[in-house]
Amino acid sequence: MKIQGVKGMNDILPADIPRWHEMEAVAREVFALYGYREVRTPVVEHAQVFARAVGEATDIVKKEMYAFEDKGEELLALRPEGTAGVVRAFIEHGAYVEGPQKWFYLGPMFRREKPQKGRYRQFHQIGCEAFGIAEPFIDAEQIALVDDYLARLGVRAALQLNTVGDPACRPAYLAELKVYLVEHKGELCPDCNDRIERNPLRALDCKVESCQPVLIGAPRLLDRLCGGCKAHFEQVKGALDALGVAYHVQPRLVRGLDYYVRTAYEFTSDALGAQSSVLGGGRYDGLVETLGGPPTPGIGFALGQERLAMILEKRGLEAKPRVPEVFFVTADAEGAIEALRRGAELRRAGIACDLDPRGGKMKAQFKQAERVGARYALVLGGNEVRSGQAKLKDVKTREETPVELSKLVERLKGG
Ligand code: ATP
Ligand code: MG
Repeated sequence: MKIQGVKGMNDILPADIPRWHEMEAVAREVFALYGYREVRTPVVEHAQVFARAVGEATDIVKKEMYAFEDKGEELLALRPEGTAGVVRAFIEHGAYVEGPQKWFYLGPMFRREKPQKGRYRQFHQIGCEAFGIAEPFIDAEQIALVDDYLARLGVRAALQLNTVGDPACRPAYLAELKVYLVEHKGELCPDCNDRIERNPLRALDCKVESCQPVLIGAPRLLDRLCGGCKAHFEQVKGALDALGVAYHVQPRLVRGLDYYVRTAYEFTSDALGAQSSVLGGGRYDGLVETLGGPPTPGIGFALGQERLAMILEKRGLEAKPRVPEVFFVTADAEGAIEALRRGAELRRAGIACDLDPRGGKMKAQFKQAERVGARYALVLGGNEVRSGQAKLKDVKTREETPVELSKLVERLKGG
């Protein structure tokens, strides 16, 4: 049997890792500027956490979640998204008593979706959650954080902005929307037909071409907002204007999860093709309470790292992998032992270096120095060991300069 990875779960190979490090390092740097602190929660939670937070009726919980009975004792699940677990931890550790908190996370998520470009069964998200602030300025600040983050990475993405109302105005709207969708049942795809009862809001962002005329003509929640939601939306837009962050109001933008209220946003990129959404976010004021905590407003987003990696790949400007400063070329057994010792010394001093423990023809070792991109090759053999003198050979120019072995670290640190 040929052993292969699981469908939809990818390896991220060393050649791709610099992009991942870049995404994560810049996230840590920018998020800290805004006061977000990292939290790490388990990949496995009680399935209930997701069923309650994300919603029993959502595709994620109904169809996509990897849930399993742990030796017949309890129903657990691989996390399909990050927010539910973070909120669970927020409550469990009583973090709400300290007042507003800004947290971020990153790591793998799991959904049993149909694998395709930009859509996988194990994928990675970076996300931020701001707890305890209901005021619209925090929405705008978080969106500005995303805007800064993407700009730092040299990524251009368009901000799509909407509001999904709240329990004061959404129910009446949903009833109206349902009636409308039922009237046009025949013109809608099977998925949308399925959503009419289950999750009518979700029908609005159906991507199927034949559904579009009906959806474009659907009643708009934007025209039916309650006073509170309307004021909130206007203030978010005003703050974004003040921050100089451009947005497109997108009346049919909804979030896939049940817990969202008011602000919903997404950053989309043309570079991605069909799965154009780089990240999605929104306000979830009822969520902490739903999971058993005190009433606590919140707003967060989750960004898909595989999708961002695709954009970074197109952007070019690769972060360079670290190359050895020195590649030791060994002439004999004495040289090999010296290379080992000097290598350890350089590494302890923070200088990257390499050698081929197989030794072999010096010409082949030089070739290897070239292949790994080393700056210098340094030949070591009995002669060098005895004299304490060697030559640093610039791999590109082939220029050689003498160096005292005992001063190698100083010399390389000096540039
Ligand atoms: P989509 O409409 O693309 O399915 P979603 O509404 O399911 O997105 P969220 O659950 O809000 O997305 O997740 C936030 C981000 O995580 C998405 O914008 C996307 O970049 C990424 N993402 C979601 N599902 C996947 C997946 N199966 N594979 C890769 N990335 C994903
Ligand atoms: Mg999805």
